[in-house]
Amino acid sequence: MTEAQKILTRLGAPANLAAIGVGGRWQSAAGSPLTVRSPIDGAELAAFAAAQASDVAAVVRAAGEAFRAWRLVPAPRRGELVRRLGERLRQHKADLAHLVSLEVGKITQESLGEVQEMIDVCDFAVGLSRQLYGLTIASERPEHRLAEQWHPLGPVGVITAFNFPVAVWAWNAMIALVCGDPVVWKPSEKTPLCGIACHAIAAGVAAEMPDVPEGLLGLLIGGGQEVGQAVAADVGLPLVSATGSVPMGRAVGQMVAARLGRALLELGGNNAVIVTDDANQDLALRAVLFGAVGTAGQRCTTTRRLILQRGIAREFTAKLVQAYRSVRIGDPLDERTLMGPLINRAAVEAMLAALRQAREQGGEVLHGGNEIDRPGHFVEPTLVRVSPAATIVKDETFAPILYIHEFDGLEQALQIHNDVPQGLSSSIFTTNLISAETFLSHHGSDCGIANVNVGTSGAEIGGAFGGEKETGGGRESGSDSWKWYMRRQTNTINWGSDMPLAQGVRFDL
Ligand code: NAD
Repeated sequence: MTEAQKILTRLGAPANLAAIGVGGRWQSAAGSPLTVRSPIDGAELAAFAAAQASDVAAVVRAAGEAFRAWRLVPAPRRGELVRRLGERLRQHKADLAHLVSLEVGKITQESLGEVQEMIDVCDFAVGLSRQLYGLTIASERPEHRLAEQWHPLGPVGVITAFNFPVAVWAWNAMIALVCGDPVVWKPSEKTPLCGIACHAIAAGVAAEMPDVPEGLLGLLIGGGQEVGQAVAADVGLPLVSATGSVPMGRAVGQMVAARLGRALLELGGNNAVIVTDDANQDLALRAVLFGAVGTAGQRCTTTRRLILQRGIAREFTAKLVQAYRSVRIGDPLDERTLMGPLINRAAVEAMLAALRQAREQGGEVLHGGNEIDRPGHFVEPTLVRVSPAATIVKDETFAPILYIHEFDGLEQALQIHNDVPQGLSSSIFTTNLISAETFLSHHGSDCGIANVNVGTSGAEIGGAFGGEKETGGGRESGSDSWKWYMRRQTNTINWGSDMPLAQGVRFDL
């Protein structure tokens, strides 16, 4: 038994791993074989048959049946399921984090942080289960009440990316569950074991509550895109929440739109940090280092562009090169390591191809640029000084490449900043109030997340998370993101004995 399999067993997964889960009922699939290898050293972690598109309908049907029961359960009681889940995640935090490190290659600190994010969102959702408020609105008619209420929406399809293999499911599932919605989850085929682990934990908790219907939580592990496409196309899923690349979001968004469903899209970012001449450089350096090198550059919020004011550009770049030289790369399970591997061979190839293009477009590699010769998929974190006009900087390359640009005035910095197709996360480092407020204003950053003296990466769950433009426009996790998972109903109640029409319209016999 591999270490990963031992962890899965402790978390309640079946000894023979199965690609389909409906609550505590696991079902082996007959799709293509899926061999899971660790990006750390290429070692095989597990192998089993993947699900197929034809498996989706039955799981969605079970979710539909569960919906009819779950929507009748009072929301605070639904919160009780999530509260217990949060407790169970606390118990299994170390095991689940270890599995994330083995399967994705994240360093232990970041894997623990990811599981903590799940726990945090459970806490948030429990509170939310007593706060699914609607508004009461002043009616223009006498003796009338105008109000809104929020009802459960139905089963939610959740498609997730490899880089947050457990947290993004939790962001969606915990909110959906308290809102009264079952969840059908299609994890990334690059991280199926994390999917099995979360499902096993959740199904174990659900089995302890008699009012939880079996089909409330569904899992489908596909080997490629076909299962995700079947999820997007299924009319039994009024909402599909999809996290991943822009091409994936374009495909899923169009399929969901074609059936007039609701799509919540959380797609790629191309996040920048602006550092002005008056900034606290120490703060900026630490934030840029974590933002660009953390998770080996494989976060949607990774800092990919650094826009430096001319006065400090050379000095700040020199400090950054120095810091990059000290980054310890290697086994993510070693506490001293700061950067682990990329997810697979294709990610390494994509990074090297992007660097070739950057050089062709006039880029100068200031640090890194190479694959590291050892088992697994290790690369050097890389700094490239390049013009913001280079087309390569408009792309999200999911790897630790940081492009460095220079600017003179803030207007120019904002123009460079916003001149990319994506709009997820952004930061300015400045001690000047006017620069900070301009950055946050309607003619500042065009991103869904804009920070001052805080890096682009590492959001808290309490805020709504998501971005604009090609990032897809969705919002998940905190604030009022829950409204995506519910249907709004506007009610007008006449408690008088007259029948006035709105807008003063008269229609008397
Ligand atoms: P990916 O797009 O390759 O895959 C994501 C998921 O979509 C997987 O489950 C995959 O099987 C599925 N999928 C892919 N193509 C599909 C299709 N045509 N139809 C249906 N399903 C399809 O992404 P990835 O490599 O796993 O993750 C990296 C990407 O995810 C990056 O672009 C990153 O920025 C983005 N991401 C965004 C956020 C966010 O919140 N904005 C968070 C994490 C990751």
